[in-house]
Amino acid sequence: MAAAVALVNAVTSAGGDDSAGAIRAILRDNEFFWQEFRDEDAEEFRRWGRTLRPFFTAARLEEATALLNRLMLEVPMHPHLSDHEPHGLHMHYAPPSSRLPDRFRATTLMNLADLVVDHGLGRTGVCAAGGCDRVYADTSRAGRRRFCSEACANRTNVAAFRARRRT
Ligand SMILES: [Zn+2]
Repeated sequence: MAAAVALVNAVTSAGGDDSAGAIRAILRDNEFFWQEFRDEDAEEFRRWGRTLRPFFTAARLEEATALLNRLMLEVPMHPHLSDHEPHGLHMHYAPPSSRLPDRFRATTLMNLADLVVDHGLGRTGVCAAGGCDRVYADTSRAGRRRFCSEACANRTNVAAFRARRRT
């Protein structure tokens, strides 16, 4: 989930860094096999980030599910069980032989599908802070997140506090 959010923000938000180095860092931070990343793959990842953004901005559940259903037909899927550290037994959605961009697409797609099955559109969206167009996905128990980051939440709360004090 964090991987999809990080890529969408890197590629589509104002001030995002969509360089090959930044994409490699997203892969590393989210435990993909970043060593397989080649700079020539960057454009494929950028395209995938632009493809996923409408999921986060969808106003209606039907739009979001239609997008995911269409992508699940396009992305090569081949689910299987894998048992390796540090996760133990877990699902892989693309065959081990597939290329890193395809594995990334399959994994992020299924993560978003799981989230929408459990919570509809209640856990994803665009940051509520003024002037911020970054997206978020909330996997916490409480599920009350409305901001992309602590920084945006704090900035908005401080502004609201000052506005109240002035009145
Ligand atoms: Zn924000």
